[in-house]
Amino acid sequence: MPQIYDTIIIGGGPAGLSAGLYASRSRIKTLIIERAKYGGQATTTDELENYPGSIEDCTGTKLSERMRKQAEEFGTEFVKDEIVDVDLNGDIKTVKSKKEIYQAKTIIIATGATPKLSGFKNELELRGKGISYCATCDADFFTDLDVAVIGGGDSAITEAMYLTKFAEHVIVIHRRDALRAAKSLQEKAFGNPKISFIWNSTVQEALGDEILEGLILKNKITGETSELKVDGCFVFVGYDPISQLFEGKVEMENGYIITDDDMKTNIPGVFAAGDIRKKLLRQVITAAADGAIAATAAEHYIENQK
Ligand code: NAP
Repeated sequence: MPQIYDTIIIGGGPAGLSAGLYASRSRIKTLIIERAKYGGQATTTDELENYPGSIEDCTGTKLSERMRKQAEEFGTEFVKDEIVDVDLNGDIKTVKSKKEIYQAKTIIIATGATPKLSGFKNELELRGKGISYCATCDADFFTDLDVAVIGGGDSAITEAMYLTKFAEHVIVIHRRDALRAAKSLQEKAFGNPKISFIWNSTVQEALGDEILEGLILKNKITGETSELKVDGCFVFVGYDPISQLFEGKVEMENGYIITDDDMKTNIPGVFAAGDIRKKLLRQVITAAADGAIAATAAEHYIENQK
């Protein structure tokens, strides 16, 4: 029989790590299960300039590692495993991987979100061969080269600015004539001499066999197509929730889990935190806050069950 945890947190990003810290500090037996990298998407961010009080050179990776250590010091257990099935009903919830069965009185879902594909021809074929979804991971490969960034949101503009530290020239390709990104980011990007913009355009195709050689663009107003020679292409067109495991098991809207203010889902003893939730603002700070609330609510739930 597997041991029964008070809470199992699925996902080790900022929401999961913060939930682990708060749960362990409440002296409830806590396990975080993460399939890949602790820190999740935060590790793909080089600058966390909007995390209040973040110290100089506070990269997503450094902050995540500090969060992980802090939770561990208070007693959170960690395991690297990929969950393939969950049974969220009843007083004891079951979480299964290919090899293991884990059980807990409460579950905190903190599985986050993953970058969306833009959907142009050859995107998947040239992924990792010039096409990337993570500037922090790959910018260095494009030192003194020309790169394109697709998207007009906060991610695209933040990462375009980061890329200017490496690339010779960064060309932002946006499907409209106005950016969605915060005004303060827009001002910085418009003032950066290394960034230029191609408006009202989408990428139709990536060129190249073994390595990216260029992009075919289509102007949405004129219908004209043109070729843009670039060495790299970074895609930042939003994110998809990682919630397939919970489909039909907890209430969702467009794949995002619905919770109340206390992070409770519609299933007793099941909570959700971070980017997986339906909410306005998906950032490290809101993920960390969600995690803290979810752990506190889980502790209250366990107390009330006694
Ligand atoms: P987002 O806000 O959803 O923006 C996605 C961008 O990609 C939009 O400009 C959208 O165009 C464009 N787009 C979507 N699908 C496309 C497609 N198939 N082809 C071409 N373009 C496409 O996503 P995000 O920028 O990743 O931000 C996600 C969340 O994280 C937001 O809440 C954001 O505030 C937050 N975030 C914040 C920061 C920060 O504060 N520093 C940094 C990163 C992310 P349209 O504008 O025409 O829809």
